[in-house]
Amino acid sequence: MTGPALLRARAVSRWYGRDSALVRAVDDVDLEVPAGQTLAIMGPSGCGKSTLLHLLGGLQRPTHGEIVLAGHRVDAMSERALARLRRQHIGFVFQSFHLMDELTAVENVELAALLAGRSPRRARQRALQLLDRVGLADRARHLPSALSGGQRQRVAIARAVSNEPLVVLADEPTGNLDSAATLEVLRLFEELRGAGQTLVVVTHDARIAAVADRVISMRDGAFADDSRFAVGTAGRAGTGTVYGGGR
Ligand code: ADP
Ligand code: MG
Repeated sequence: MTGPALLRARAVSRWYGRDSALVRAVDDVDLEVPAGQTLAIMGPSGCGKSTLLHLLGGLQRPTHGEIVLAGHRVDAMSERALARLRRQHIGFVFQSFHLMDELTAVENVELAALLAGRSPRRARQRALQLLDRVGLADRARHLPSALSGGQRQRVAIARAVSNEPLVVLADEPTGNLDSAATLEVLRLFEELRGAGQTLVVVTHDARIAAVADRVISMRDGAFADDSRFAVGTAGRAGTGTVYGGGR
């Protein structure tokens, strides 16, 4: 690995409860994710994958340890600064999509760009471009309820990159999808990876893990196994600007 990590966790723990009910959901984890890397995190249910992803993205705070994203101390920020960091520099993809039901596909995508500070005109333009890139140009005015699961997740991926995030964090993005829809999402992740997007994806799907540069297996809050695939990582310095599109 060359250069400083884009995302770094040092001795990070997240515990729940106390005494005999103490759960060490994430326990003393060290991690460095260089720009441009696609990292897959696998492991059985309850081993701490979601908690770790939430800690990395500032959705939860660690009990101990330090998390740094592009020089920002995620663990030590005010709620306000953290919210701004998430809006501007992080893209989230969830298993259950988390789209706004009353907004159309293009409105869902454009809202994230607006919150990141784009002008209304620019946000709309970018949202339409991104929906086109994920193959949903003809679904832009549909509500989520009129879309299939795979289509909803493609909207969610377009939304996740609409702010040109430093990192995309995805939590079992194909967990609710059938095999055909999983392949569509897999293709989009491959495209993101090819565009230099830094990507951390929690997944049970071996096909997604197979396109990652590094696969970490978790057990009981810690890293049990770690495979790095050197090919493809060295020359791909991430730009953070996915799918082109200026600011
Ligand atoms: P995974 O995503 O790998 O399934 P999680 O990160 O969701 O695992 O959970 C890790 C552990 O932390 C589990 O034992 C879970 O029950 C526990 N846990 C998660 N969230 C909470 C919470 N808010 N309060 C108490 N325990 C929690
Ligand atoms: Mg989980």
